[in-house]
Amino acid sequence: MPLSNTYKSPVYARAKAITSVIFIISLLVTQIIAWGLLERERSLEQHQVRNEVIQFKNRLETILEYSSTATYTMALLVENGLLNDDFDSLSHQILRQNQFIDAMQLVEGTVITKTYPLEGNESVIGMDISKTPAHIRDAAESIKRQQLYFEGPFELTQGGVGFVGRFPIMKNSQVFGFSAVVIKLATILDGLGLSKSGVTDEYIYQLVKIEGEEQKLLFQNKESFDSGIIAKTKVPLGDWDIHVKLRNPGYWKRFMSFSILGLVFSLILSVLVWKVATQPAKLNMLIDLKTRDLKVVNEQLERRAEELEQYAHVISHDLQEPLRMVVNFLGLLKDRNGDSLDEQALTYVNHASEGAWKMKNLISDLLKYAIAGKNSGKKELIPLRMVLDDAISLLQNKIDESKAVISYTDLPTVYAVKIPLTQIMQNLIGNALKYASIDRAPVIIVEHLSLDDEWEIIVKDNGIGIPSEYYQEVFNIFKRLHKEEYQGTGLGLAMVKKNVESLGGRVWVTSQINVGSEFHFTLPKKSS
Ligand code: ADP
Repeated sequence: MPLSNTYKSPVYARAKAITSVIFIISLLVTQIIAWGLLERERSLEQHQVRNEVIQFKNRLETILEYSSTATYTMALLVENGLLNDDFDSLSHQILRQNQFIDAMQLVEGTVITKTYPLEGNESVIGMDISKTPAHIRDAAESIKRQQLYFEGPFELTQGGVGFVGRFPIMKNSQVFGFSAVVIKLATILDGLGLSKSGVTDEYIYQLVKIEGEEQKLLFQNKESFDSGIIAKTKVPLGDWDIHVKLRNPGYWKRFMSFSILGLVFSLILSVLVWKVATQPAKLNMLIDLKTRDLKVVNEQLERRAEELEQYAHVISHDLQEPLRMVVNFLGLLKDRNGDSLDEQALTYVNHASEGAWKMKNLISDLLKYAIAGKNSGKKELIPLRMVLDDAISLLQNKIDESKAVISYTDLPTVYAVKIPLTQIMQNLIGNALKYASIDRAPVIIVEHLSLDDEWEIIVKDNGIGIPSEYYQEVFNIFKRLHKEEYQGTGLGLAMVKKNVESLGGRVWVTSQINVGSEFHFTLPKKSS
């Protein structure tokens, strides 16, 4: 497969699909978790601000509680005619015990008649509160409620910003006036533990009083309390709205970091999935590459082997003619001039013709070997018995000489080519006769086994046997174990192997020294 096509292979397409699905799912899951986290964090922070606004309100009401007791005490005394000239000493007492009150006032009708301490507050004496709409409106509110009601924050006549809380004094069911307290901004801020800006590290605060169209703010900040983590509550004592806002909400940052973490996690997961999913494709690609290399090498080898075989064929063929001449002329030399040759010369001539005969056999076997396996015919169903008979008749002389016994039971019909199959049987039986033990006449048995798709043919003898370390090597060309004692070319078994393999089978040997050898080979039962 060309490399460019690898990425279009089905494995890659599947890997792409799996990776995309895993990426989308893991991204979705992590983002849903991140979103859940965001909601949870936001509600936690919201809860925190709600708590803070309640605490702020509690702190404020605790501070104002002092004024409540003070004004109530004063009003009670006036109503019962018990406050004569001791306004100052009573106020002094009250102020001493109530740290969050800056001054006491007595309002008779709508005019401020007394104040304590007088010092610094002189300007309010004689002031008619009915002249200022805000004063009179909030004073009326305290009458309506029959309890302490605060006005402010506003610019005090005596200077500075502060609050005035008024409690109505009733005499004979008529409003006699008010007992009042003045609380300065600084006192309130002190009590709340805040600065003028109403901003701490954590929160931003605001206290608002709506007076008609006007909004009066306690803290000097321009913060909008419409968005963000905010909470609001009302304080009835002065009809104030308290706003608290979380200065640096963390829920969004935490959401972002978890969300990015989720994205990174999904990416890493996808890369891993991609690696695992594309593994088979990469392996296939490697196998393809290697197979291609092997094919090329194989083709080269086959070409080389063919060239060599052709070469061997030509050489052995061409050598036969001059060799036949050498043999013939040596024969002529012996026949015609035998009498005139001395004994020495005759021995030479005999050696020469023996050598020439050996060479002739070798060349003839080489030629057979070169041709072997070149299926010189079509495969067909052949009764093995017929082939065995042919081989036996070719070896009949040797069989008779050695008094060999060849036995076989009913043999199968095999799918093969006749000539190479005959060569196989001839070589194996020929060797069984040749490598017979000197102690006994050869007994050769031909048997078969039926395997799944093939026949296994076994040629057994009772000969000299083959040492186990040579079981493989005896099938190599020119491998001979008994060079001195037996004549041969070392090509017989190589030829058997070549023929068996060309017919689609395998060949091997098992043996016991001095007991005998078993040559096994397989052949297909039918064409595949
Ligand atoms: P050769 O021409 O020597 O017989 P082969 O290729 O036929 O060559 O056999 C290779 C070697 O295997 C022989 O030299 C012999 O030593 C051994 N061999 C072959 N067949 C048998 C057998 N039936 N029993 C014992 N040895 C054998």
